[in-house]
Amino acid sequence: MTTTDPERWERVKGRLRAEVGEEIFQSWFARMELERVHEGMAHLSVPTRFLKSWIQSHYIDRLLNCWQAEHPDIQKLDVTVRSAVLRTVVPKAKPIEAIDFGRGTRGDSGEARTAFGPVASGHDALGGSPLDLRLTFDTFVIGRSNTLAHAAAKQVAAARRNDPVMFNPLYIHAGVGLGKTHLLQAITWAGNNGSERKVLYLTAEKFMYGFVSALRTQTALAFKEALRGIDVLVIDDLQFLQGKSTQAEFCHTLNALIDAGRQVIIAADRPPTDLESLDDRVRSRLAGGLVVEMGPLGEELRLEILKFRVTAARQYHPSFDVPAPVLSYIAKAVTHNGRDLEGAVNRLLAHNKLTGQPVTMEMAEREVRDLIRPQEPKRVKIEDIQRIVARQYNVSRSDLLSSRRTANVVRPRQVAMYLAKTLTLRSLPEIGRRFGGRDHTTVLHAVRKIEGLVGNDAMLADEIEVLKRQLQE
Ligand code: ADP
Ligand code: MG
Repeated sequence: MTTTDPERWERVKGRLRAEVGEEIFQSWFARMELERVHEGMAHLSVPTRFLKSWIQSHYIDRLLNCWQAEHPDIQKLDVTVRSAVLRTVVPKAKPIEAIDFGRGTRGDSGEARTAFGPVASGHDALGGSPLDLRLTFDTFVIGRSNTLAHAAAKQVAAARRNDPVMFNPLYIHAGVGLGKTHLLQAITWAGNNGSERKVLYLTAEKFMYGFVSALRTQTALAFKEALRGIDVLVIDDLQFLQGKSTQAEFCHTLNALIDAGRQVIIAADRPPTDLESLDDRVRSRLAGGLVVEMGPLGEELRLEILKFRVTAARQYHPSFDVPAPVLSYIAKAVTHNGRDLEGAVNRLLAHNKLTGQPVTMEMAEREVRDLIRPQEPKRVKIEDIQRIVARQYNVSRSDLLSSRRTANVVRPRQVAMYLAKTLTLRSLPEIGRRFGGRDHTTVLHAVRKIEGLVGNDAMLADEIEVLKRQLQE
Protein backbone atom coordinates (compact mmCIF):
# COMPACT_ATOMS: atom_id res chain seq x y z
CA MET A 1 0.00 0.00 0.00
CA THR A 2 1.49 3.33 -0.93
CA THR A 3 1.34 6.08 1.62
CA THR A 4 -1.38 7.85 -0.25
CA ASP A 5 -3.90 5.02 -0.28
CA PRO A 6 -5.38 5.67 3.17
CA GLU A 7 -5.76 9.29 2.21
CA ARG A 8 -7.47 8.31 -1.00
CA TRP A 9 -9.76 6.05 0.94
CA GLU A 10 -10.74 8.99 3.11
CA ARG A 11 -11.58 10.97 0.02
CA VAL A 12 -13.50 8.08 -1.49
CA LYS A 13 -15.55 7.94 1.68
CA GLY A 14 -16.11 11.68 1.48
CA ARG A 15 -17.49 11.34 -2.04
CA LEU A 16 -19.65 8.45 -1.08
CA ARG A 17 -21.03 10.27 1.91
CA ALA A 18 -21.88 13.24 -0.28
CA GLU A 19 -23.63 10.98 -2.77
CA VAL A 20 -25.70 8.74 -0.54
CA GLY A 21 -26.25 11.01 2.44
CA GLU A 22 -25.09 10.73 6.00
CA GLU A 23 -27.66 8.22 7.15
CA ILE A 24 -27.07 5.65 4.45
CA PHE A 25 -23.38 6.18 4.71
CA GLN A 26 -23.47 5.51 8.44
CA SER A 27 -25.65 2.46 8.01
CA TRP A 28 -23.58 0.70 5.41
CA PHE A 29 -20.14 2.21 5.08
CA ALA A 30 -19.14 3.54 8.46
CA ARG A 31 -17.45 0.26 9.37
CA MET A 32 -15.89 -0.44 6.04
CA GLU A 33 -12.11 -0.47 6.09
CA LEU A 34 -9.48 -0.39 3.43
CA GLU A 35 -7.20 -3.41 3.65
CA ARG A 36 -4.93 -2.62 0.74
CA VAL A 37 -4.72 -1.56 -2.88
CA HIS A 38 -2.99 -4.04 -5.09
CA GLU A 39 -2.77 -4.50 -8.89
CA GLY A 40 -5.75 -2.35 -9.76
CA MET A 41 -7.89 -3.82 -7.03
CA ALA A 42 -9.01 -2.13 -3.82
CA HIS A 43 -9.48 -4.66 -1.04
CA LEU A 44 -12.11 -3.53 1.45
CA SER A 45 -13.51 -5.25 4.50
CA VAL A 46 -16.68 -5.07 6.55
CA PRO A 47 -17.58 -6.77 9.84
CA THR A 48 -20.50 -8.92 8.69
CA ARG A 49 -21.58 -11.01 5.78
CA PHE A 50 -24.83 -9.20 5.71
CA LEU A 51 -23.11 -5.86 5.18
CA LYS A 52 -20.94 -7.41 2.52
CA SER A 53 -23.80 -8.84 0.53
CA TRP A 54 -25.87 -5.71 0.90
CA ILE A 55 -23.06 -3.47 -0.30
CA GLN A 56 -22.29 -5.82 -3.15
CA SER A 57 -25.85 -5.94 -4.34
CA HIS A 58 -26.73 -2.29 -3.83
CA TYR A 59 -23.70 -0.06 -3.80
CA ILE A 60 -20.78 -1.72 -5.50
CA ASP A 61 -20.97 0.34 -8.69
CA ARG A 62 -21.21 3.60 -6.85
CA LEU A 63 -18.36 2.62 -4.66
CA LEU A 64 -16.24 1.76 -7.67
CA ASN A 65 -17.10 5.07 -9.33
CA CYS A 66 -16.00 6.93 -6.25
CA TRP A 67 -12.77 4.99 -6.25
CA GLN A 68 -12.11 5.63 -9.89
CA ALA A 69 -12.70 9.33 -9.42
CA GLU A 70 -9.87 9.35 -6.90
CA HIS A 71 -7.69 6.65 -8.35
CA PRO A 72 -8.21 5.91 -12.04
CA ASP A 73 -6.09 2.74 -11.86
CA ILE A 74 -8.66 0.91 -9.79
CA GLN A 75 -10.49 -1.61 -11.94
CA LYS A 76 -12.16 -3.77 -9.36
CA LEU A 77 -13.22 -3.89 -5.77
CA ASP A 78 -12.96 -6.81 -3.43
CA VAL A 79 -15.12 -6.77 -0.32
CA THR A 80 -14.41 -9.32 2.37
CA VAL A 81 -15.70 -10.03 5.83
CA ARG A 82 -13.15 -9.17 8.45
CA SER A 83 -12.15 -12.00 10.66
CA ALA A 84 -14.27 -11.49 13.70
CA VAL A 85 -12.00 -12.74 16.40
CA LEU A 86 -8.86 -10.96 15.36
CA ARG A 87 -10.49 -7.59 15.34
CA THR A 88 -12.54 -7.67 18.48
CA VAL A 89 -12.77 -4.08 19.56
CA VAL A 90 -12.48 -3.63 23.24
CA PRO A 91 -13.45 -0.05 23.78
CA LYS A 92 -11.46 1.89 26.24
CA ALA A 93 -13.25 1.82 29.53
CA LYS A 94 -13.90 5.18 31.03
CA PRO A 95 -12.60 5.65 34.52
CA ILE A 96 -15.47 4.73 36.78
CA GLU A 97 -15.57 8.05 38.61
CA ALA A 98 -16.07 9.87 35.37
CA ILE A 99 -19.23 8.04 34.47
CA ASP A 100 -22.45 9.90 34.91
CA PHE A 101 -24.97 7.50 36.38
CA GLY A 102 -27.87 9.23 34.76
CA ARG A 103 -30.72 10.98 36.43
CA GLY A 104 -32.15 9.61 39.63
CA THR A 105 -29.79 6.75 40.22
CA ARG A 106 -26.92 8.27 42.08
CA GLY A 107 -28.75 9.10 45.27
CA ASP A 108 -30.77 5.89 45.39
CA SER A 109 -30.46 3.70 48.42
CA GLY A 110 -29.93 0.75 46.14
CA GLU A 111 -32.91 -1.12 47.57
CA ALA A 112 -34.77 -1.27 44.31
CA ARG A 113 -31.76 -2.59 42.52
CA THR A 114 -31.47 -5.54 44.75
CA ALA A 115 -34.73 -6.75 43.32
CA PHE A 116 -32.57 -7.96 40.49
CA GLY A 117 -30.47 -10.00 42.83
CA PRO A 118 -27.23 -9.26 44.58
CA VAL A 119 -24.64 -7.96 42.25
CA ALA A 120 -21.31 -9.27 43.35
CA SER A 121 -19.51 -9.63 40.07
CA GLY A 122 -19.94 -8.99 36.43
CA HIS A 123 -21.29 -12.47 35.91
CA ASP A 124 -23.93 -12.10 38.53
CA ALA A 125 -24.93 -8.84 37.03
CA LEU A 126 -25.45 -10.76 33.82
CA GLY A 127 -27.95 -13.13 35.33
CA GLY A 128 -30.35 -12.26 32.56
CA SER A 129 -34.01 -11.38 32.80
CA PRO A 130 -36.47 -14.10 33.74
CA LEU A 131 -37.82 -16.22 30.93
CA ASP A 132 -41.39 -17.41 30.56
CA LEU A 133 -41.58 -21.15 29.97
CA ARG A 134 -44.46 -20.79 27.56
CA LEU A 135 -42.79 -18.39 25.18
CA THR A 136 -41.15 -20.80 22.77
CA PHE A 137 -41.18 -21.35 19.03
CA ASP A 138 -43.61 -24.21 19.57
CA THR A 139 -46.24 -21.88 20.92
CA PHE A 140 -45.63 -19.07 18.47
CA VAL A 141 -48.29 -18.99 15.80
CA ILE A 142 -47.19 -17.84 12.38
CA GLY A 143 -49.33 -15.56 10.27
CA ARG A 144 -48.95 -13.03 7.54
CA SER A 145 -47.91 -10.24 9.87
CA ASN A 146 -45.03 -12.09 11.50
CA THR A 147 -43.73 -14.55 8.89
CA LEU A 148 -40.58 -12.62 8.17
CA ALA A 149 -39.75 -11.86 11.79
CA HIS A 150 -40.35 -15.49 12.69
CA ALA A 151 -38.15 -16.75 9.85
CA ALA A 152 -35.33 -14.40 10.82
CA ALA A 153 -35.66 -15.40 14.47
CA LYS A 154 -35.57 -19.09 13.57
CA GLN A 155 -32.54 -18.61 11.41
CA VAL A 156 -30.70 -16.73 14.10
CA ALA A 157 -31.66 -19.29 16.73
CA ALA A 158 -30.48 -22.20 14.62
CA ALA A 159 -27.02 -20.78 13.98
CA ARG A 160 -24.09 -22.43 15.68
CA ARG A 161 -21.05 -20.95 17.24
CA ASN A 162 -18.64 -19.61 14.60
CA ASP A 163 -21.26 -19.73 11.88
CA PRO A 164 -21.12 -16.59 9.81
CA VAL A 165 -23.59 -14.08 11.16
CA MET A 166 -26.30 -13.29 8.65
CA PHE A 167 -28.31 -10.49 10.18
CA ASN A 168 -26.60 -8.38 12.75
CA PRO A 169 -28.22 -6.92 14.61
CA LEU A 170 -31.60 -8.46 14.01
CA TYR A 171 -33.97 -5.70 14.99
CA ILE A 172 -37.64 -6.51 15.45
CA HIS A 173 -40.16 -3.79 16.04
CA ALA A 174 -43.91 -3.90 16.64
CA GLY A 175 -46.60 -2.37 18.79
CA VAL A 176 -47.51 -3.63 22.22
CA GLY A 177 -48.63 -7.23 22.51
CA LEU A 178 -47.72 -8.30 19.00
CA GLY A 179 -45.24 -10.98 19.98
CA LYS A 180 -41.82 -9.33 20.31
CA THR A 181 -41.04 -10.73 23.73
CA HIS A 182 -42.45 -14.08 22.72
CA LEU A 183 -40.11 -14.28 19.74
CA LEU A 184 -37.07 -13.06 21.66
CA GLN A 185 -37.59 -15.52 24.47
CA ALA A 186 -38.15 -18.29 21.94
CA ILE A 187 -34.72 -17.52 20.50
CA THR A 188 -33.25 -17.57 23.98
CA TRP A 189 -34.84 -20.89 24.89
CA ALA A 190 -33.75 -22.42 21.62
CA GLY A 191 -30.21 -21.18 22.26
CA ASN A 192 -30.10 -22.45 25.80
CA ASN A 193 -31.31 -25.91 24.89
CA GLY A 194 -28.67 -27.91 23.22
CA SER A 195 -26.63 -25.36 21.40
CA GLU A 196 -23.23 -24.60 22.75
CA ARG A 197 -23.76 -20.87 22.43
CA LYS A 198 -24.20 -18.65 25.41
CA VAL A 199 -27.39 -16.70 24.96
CA LEU A 200 -28.32 -13.86 27.26
CA TYR A 201 -31.75 -12.26 27.36
CA LEU A 202 -31.93 -8.85 29.00
CA THR A 203 -34.56 -6.19 29.06
CA ALA A 204 -33.12 -2.76 28.42
CA GLU A 205 -33.93 -1.97 32.03
CA LYS A 206 -32.00 -4.94 33.25
CA PHE A 207 -29.13 -3.90 31.08
CA MET A 208 -29.22 -0.45 32.67
CA TYR A 209 -29.59 -1.64 36.23
CA GLY A 210 -27.09 -4.42 35.83
CA PHE A 211 -24.65 -1.92 34.56
CA VAL A 212 -25.34 0.69 37.16
CA SER A 213 -25.15 -1.85 39.97
CA ALA A 214 -21.94 -3.22 38.60
CA LEU A 215 -20.50 0.26 38.55
CA ARG A 216 -21.60 0.80 42.10
CA THR A 217 -19.82 -2.31 43.23
CA GLN A 218 -16.78 -1.37 41.17
CA THR A 219 -17.10 -4.33 38.86
CA ALA A 220 -17.90 -2.48 35.70
CA LEU A 221 -14.95 -3.99 33.94
CA ALA A 222 -15.96 -7.49 34.91
CA PHE A 223 -19.47 -6.75 33.76
CA LYS A 224 -18.29 -5.53 30.42
CA GLU A 225 -15.96 -8.45 29.97
CA ALA A 226 -18.68 -10.89 30.84
CA LEU A 227 -21.07 -9.24 28.48
CA ARG A 228 -18.57 -9.57 25.71
CA GLY A 229 -18.07 -13.21 26.57
CA ILE A 230 -21.50 -14.21 25.36
CA ASP A 231 -22.41 -15.41 21.90
CA VAL A 232 -25.88 -14.04 21.52
CA LEU A 233 -27.17 -10.95 23.25
CA VAL A 234 -30.92 -10.45 23.22
CA ILE A 235 -32.23 -7.07 24.35
CA ASP A 236 -35.93 -6.47 24.78
CA ASP A 237 -37.77 -3.14 24.87
CA LEU A 238 -34.83 -1.07 23.78
CA GLN A 239 -37.01 2.03 23.79
CA PHE A 240 -36.56 2.09 27.58
CA LEU A 241 -32.81 2.49 27.45
CA GLN A 242 -32.05 5.80 29.11
CA GLY A 243 -29.20 7.79 30.49
CA LYS A 244 -26.13 8.98 28.66
CA SER A 245 -23.67 6.60 30.22
CA THR A 246 -25.76 3.47 29.70
CA GLN A 247 -26.33 4.49 26.15
CA ALA A 248 -22.64 4.99 25.61
CA GLU A 249 -22.05 1.61 27.19
CA PHE A 250 -24.73 0.02 25.09
CA CYS A 251 -23.12 1.50 22.02
CA HIS A 252 -19.70 0.08 22.92
CA THR A 253 -21.18 -3.29 23.72
CA LEU A 254 -23.12 -3.39 20.50
CA ASN A 255 -20.11 -2.48 18.42
CA ALA A 256 -17.81 -4.87 20.21
CA LEU A 257 -20.23 -7.78 19.90
CA ILE A 258 -21.06 -7.18 16.29
CA ASP A 259 -17.48 -6.67 15.28
CA ALA A 260 -16.58 -9.86 17.10
CA GLY A 261 -19.15 -11.72 15.02
CA ARG A 262 -21.55 -12.23 17.92
CA GLN A 263 -25.23 -12.11 17.27
CA VAL A 264 -27.25 -9.24 18.65
CA ILE A 265 -31.05 -9.31 18.63
CA ILE A 266 -33.12 -6.35 19.64
CA ALA A 267 -36.80 -5.62 20.03
CA ALA A 268 -38.45 -2.25 20.42
CA ASP A 269 -41.79 -0.67 19.88
CA ARG A 270 -40.56 1.50 17.04
CA PRO A 271 -38.00 1.44 14.23
CA PRO A 272 -34.40 2.45 14.97
CA THR A 273 -34.85 5.82 13.30
CA ASP A 274 -37.57 6.71 15.80
CA LEU A 275 -35.54 6.00 18.91
CA GLU A 276 -35.13 9.68 19.56
CA SER A 277 -33.18 9.39 22.75
CA LEU A 278 -30.39 7.32 21.21
CA ASP A 279 -27.57 9.00 19.43
CA ASP A 280 -27.13 8.83 15.68
CA ARG A 281 -24.32 6.34 15.71
CA VAL A 282 -26.30 3.80 17.64
CA ARG A 283 -29.34 4.31 15.49
CA SER A 284 -27.47 3.79 12.28
CA ARG A 285 -25.76 0.77 13.72
CA LEU A 286 -29.12 -0.66 14.65
CA ALA A 287 -30.47 0.08 11.22
CA GLY A 288 -27.47 -1.58 9.60
CA GLY A 289 -28.57 -5.14 10.23
CA LEU A 290 -31.95 -6.56 9.43
CA VAL A 291 -34.90 -4.48 10.57
CA VAL A 292 -38.21 -6.33 10.57
CA GLU A 293 -41.59 -5.07 11.55
CA MET A 294 -44.40 -7.22 12.86
CA GLY A 295 -47.80 -5.87 11.94
CA PRO A 296 -51.08 -6.13 13.82
CA LEU A 297 -52.41 -9.64 14.35
CA GLY A 298 -54.90 -10.42 11.59
CA GLU A 299 -58.19 -12.07 12.43
CA GLU A 300 -57.05 -15.50 11.25
CA LEU A 301 -53.94 -15.27 13.34
CA ARG A 302 -55.94 -14.15 16.35
CA LEU A 303 -58.21 -17.14 15.96
CA GLU A 304 -55.23 -19.50 15.74
CA ILE A 305 -53.67 -17.98 18.83
CA LEU A 306 -56.94 -18.38 20.72
CA LYS A 307 -57.25 -22.01 19.69
CA PHE A 308 -53.70 -22.59 20.80
CA ARG A 309 -54.38 -21.00 24.15
CA VAL A 310 -57.54 -22.98 24.74
CA THR A 311 -55.80 -26.21 23.82
CA ALA A 312 -53.01 -25.38 26.23
CA ALA A 313 -55.48 -24.59 29.00
CA ARG A 314 -57.29 -27.86 28.39
CA GLN A 315 -54.20 -29.80 29.31
CA TYR A 316 -54.73 -28.70 32.87
CA HIS A 317 -58.48 -28.17 32.76
CA PRO A 318 -59.88 -30.91 30.55
CA SER A 319 -63.47 -29.81 31.13
CA PHE A 320 -62.77 -26.33 29.78
CA ASP A 321 -64.39 -26.02 26.40
CA VAL A 322 -64.90 -22.98 24.23
CA PRO A 323 -67.39 -23.45 21.40
CA ALA A 324 -66.15 -22.50 17.95
CA PRO A 325 -68.59 -19.58 17.54
CA VAL A 326 -67.31 -18.06 20.77
CA LEU A 327 -63.74 -18.37 19.54
CA SER A 328 -64.58 -16.65 16.27
CA TYR A 329 -66.47 -14.00 18.13
CA ILE A 330 -63.48 -13.22 20.34
CA ALA A 331 -61.09 -13.33 17.40
CA LYS A 332 -63.26 -10.77 15.66
CA ALA A 333 -64.07 -8.57 18.60
CA VAL A 334 -60.79 -8.44 20.51
CA THR A 335 -58.49 -6.74 18.09
CA HIS A 336 -55.96 -4.99 20.26
CA ASN A 337 -53.17 -7.42 20.78
CA GLY A 338 -52.01 -10.81 21.90
CA ARG A 339 -52.16 -9.86 25.54
CA ASP A 340 -55.87 -9.17 25.32
CA LEU A 341 -56.43 -12.50 23.62
CA GLU A 342 -54.63 -14.20 26.45
CA GLY A 343 -56.67 -12.15 28.92
CA ALA A 344 -59.91 -13.15 27.23
CA VAL A 345 -59.12 -16.86 27.46
CA ASN A 346 -58.07 -16.48 31.08
CA ARG A 347 -61.33 -14.82 31.96
CA LEU A 348 -63.40 -17.50 30.29
CA LEU A 349 -61.37 -20.13 32.08
CA ALA A 350 -61.70 -18.38 35.42
CA HIS A 351 -65.42 -17.91 35.02
CA ASN A 352 -65.86 -21.51 33.93
CA LYS A 353 -63.83 -22.84 36.85
CA LEU A 354 -65.36 -20.61 39.48
CA THR A 355 -68.99 -20.94 38.52
CA GLY A 356 -68.92 -24.34 36.88
CA GLN A 357 -70.97 -22.89 34.05
CA PRO A 358 -70.07 -23.74 30.47
CA VAL A 359 -68.71 -21.06 28.20
CA THR A 360 -71.47 -19.55 26.11
CA MET A 361 -71.60 -16.62 23.77
CA GLU A 362 -73.47 -14.60 26.33
CA MET A 363 -70.92 -15.27 29.03
CA ALA A 364 -68.08 -14.52 26.64
CA GLU A 365 -69.60 -11.22 25.63
CA ARG A 366 -69.95 -10.19 29.22
CA GLU A 367 -66.48 -11.31 30.23
CA VAL A 368 -64.56 -9.69 27.42
CA ARG A 369 -66.65 -6.56 27.02
CA ASP A 370 -63.96 -4.18 28.16
CA LEU A 371 -61.38 -5.74 25.84
CA ILE A 372 -63.40 -4.80 22.82
CA ARG A 373 -62.51 -1.74 20.91
CA PRO A 374 -65.64 0.31 20.43
CA GLN A 375 -66.61 0.52 16.83
CA GLU A 376 -68.98 2.54 14.80
CA PRO A 377 -72.32 0.80 14.43
CA LYS A 378 -72.68 -0.06 10.79
CA ARG A 379 -75.79 0.20 8.72
CA VAL A 380 -76.85 -3.28 7.82
CA LYS A 381 -78.49 -4.11 4.50
CA ILE A 382 -81.16 -6.75 4.04
CA GLU A 383 -79.24 -8.17 1.08
CA ASP A 384 -76.23 -8.70 3.32
CA ILE A 385 -78.35 -10.44 5.91
CA GLN A 386 -79.75 -12.78 3.30
CA ARG A 387 -76.35 -13.48 1.84
CA ILE A 388 -74.66 -14.18 5.14
CA VAL A 389 -77.51 -16.24 6.56
CA ALA A 390 -77.69 -18.28 3.36
CA ARG A 391 -73.99 -18.96 3.55
CA GLN A 392 -74.12 -19.86 7.22
CA TYR A 393 -76.89 -22.44 6.70
CA ASN A 394 -75.69 -23.63 3.38
CA VAL A 395 -78.78 -22.72 1.39
CA SER A 396 -79.08 -20.30 -1.51
CA ARG A 397 -80.43 -16.80 -1.28
CA SER A 398 -83.26 -17.70 -3.66
CA ASP A 399 -84.21 -20.53 -1.29
CA LEU A 400 -84.76 -17.89 1.39
CA LEU A 401 -86.99 -15.86 -0.91
CA SER A 402 -88.84 -18.87 -2.30
CA SER A 403 -92.06 -20.32 -1.00
CA ARG A 404 -90.42 -23.63 -0.09
CA ARG A 405 -91.42 -24.78 3.37
CA THR A 406 -88.94 -27.55 4.11
CA ALA A 407 -87.33 -27.30 7.54
CA ASN A 408 -83.82 -26.63 6.18
CA VAL A 409 -85.00 -23.37 4.61
CA VAL A 410 -87.79 -22.36 7.02
CA ARG A 411 -85.47 -21.84 9.99
CA PRO A 412 -82.80 -19.87 8.09
CA ARG A 413 -85.54 -17.74 6.56
CA GLN A 414 -86.93 -16.98 10.01
CA VAL A 415 -83.47 -16.14 11.31
CA ALA A 416 -82.89 -13.80 8.40
CA MET A 417 -86.21 -12.04 8.97
CA TYR A 418 -85.48 -11.74 12.67
CA LEU A 419 -82.10 -10.17 11.92
CA ALA A 420 -83.69 -7.82 9.40
CA LYS A 421 -86.08 -6.66 12.06
CA THR A 422 -83.50 -6.26 14.81
CA LEU A 423 -80.58 -4.86 12.79
CA THR A 424 -82.36 -2.54 10.35
CA LEU A 425 -85.05 0.10 10.66
CA ARG A 426 -87.22 -1.50 8.00
CA SER A 427 -90.88 -2.03 8.77
CA LEU A 428 -92.49 -5.48 8.86
CA PRO A 429 -94.34 -4.98 5.53
CA GLU A 430 -91.13 -3.76 3.89
CA ILE A 431 -89.22 -6.81 5.19
CA GLY A 432 -92.04 -9.04 3.94
CA ARG A 433 -91.74 -7.52 0.48
CA ARG A 434 -87.98 -8.05 0.46
CA PHE A 435 -88.43 -11.71 1.35
CA GLY A 436 -90.28 -12.72 -1.79
CA GLY A 437 -93.43 -10.65 -1.19
CA ARG A 438 -94.59 -12.13 2.07
CA ASP A 439 -97.25 -10.77 4.35
CA HIS A 440 -96.15 -8.69 7.36
CA THR A 441 -97.78 -11.22 9.74
CA THR A 442 -95.44 -13.90 8.40
CA VAL A 443 -92.49 -11.69 9.30
CA LEU A 444 -93.91 -10.97 12.74
CA HIS A 445 -94.42 -14.69 13.32
CA ALA A 446 -90.82 -15.40 12.34
CA VAL A 447 -89.47 -12.69 14.64
CA ARG A 448 -91.48 -13.98 17.62
CA LYS A 449 -90.55 -17.54 16.87
CA ILE A 450 -86.81 -16.80 16.94
CA GLU A 451 -87.09 -14.54 19.98
CA GLY A 452 -88.75 -17.40 21.80
CA LEU A 453 -86.18 -19.95 20.71
CA VAL A 454 -83.00 -18.04 21.60
CA GLY A 455 -84.03 -18.00 25.26
CA ASN A 456 -83.82 -21.79 25.43
CA ASP A 457 -81.59 -22.86 22.59
CA ALA A 458 -78.03 -21.79 23.43
CA MET A 459 -76.69 -23.07 20.16
CA LEU A 460 -79.11 -21.01 18.14
CA ALA A 461 -78.36 -18.01 20.33
CA ASP A 462 -74.66 -18.40 19.59
CA GLU A 463 -75.27 -18.79 15.88
CA ILE A 464 -77.26 -15.61 15.85
CA GLU A 465 -74.61 -13.74 17.76
CA VAL A 466 -72.01 -14.77 15.25
CA LEU A 467 -74.23 -13.70 12.38
CA LYS A 468 -74.77 -10.34 14.03
CA ARG A 469 -71.07 -9.85 14.47
CA GLN A 470 -70.40 -10.67 10.86
CA LEU A 471 -73.02 -8.23 9.74
CA GLN A 472 -71.95 -5.44 12.02
CA GLU A 473 -68.26 -5.45 11.49
P1 ADP B 1 -44.82 -7.68 23.00
O1 ADP B 1 -43.56 -8.08 23.65
O2 ADP B 1 -44.68 -7.41 21.53
O3 ADP B 1 -45.54 -6.58 23.68
P2 ADP B 1 -45.64 -10.33 23.74
O4 ADP B 1 -44.58 -11.12 23.07
O5 ADP B 1 -45.53 -10.13 25.20
O6 ADP B 1 -45.81 -8.92 23.02
O7 ADP B 1 -47.05 -10.97 23.37
C1 ADP B 1 -48.23 -10.72 24.11
C2 ADP B 1 -49.02 -11.99 24.24
O8 ADP B 1 -49.51 -12.40 22.97
C3 ADP B 1 -48.21 -13.14 24.78
O9 ADP B 1 -49.03 -13.91 25.59
C4 ADP B 1 -47.83 -13.89 23.53
O10 ADP B 1 -47.61 -15.25 23.82
C5 ADP B 1 -49.03 -13.67 22.65
N1 ADP B 1 -48.68 -13.69 21.23
C6 ADP B 1 -48.36 -12.65 20.46
N2 ADP B 1 -48.09 -13.04 19.21
C7 ADP B 1 -48.24 -14.37 19.21
C8 ADP B 1 -48.11 -15.38 18.20
N3 ADP B 1 -47.77 -15.09 16.95
N4 ADP B 1 -48.35 -16.66 18.56
C9 ADP B 1 -48.71 -16.97 19.82
N5 ADP B 1 -48.86 -16.09 20.80
C10 ADP B 1 -48.62 -14.80 20.51
MG1 MG C 1 -42.58 -7.28 25.27
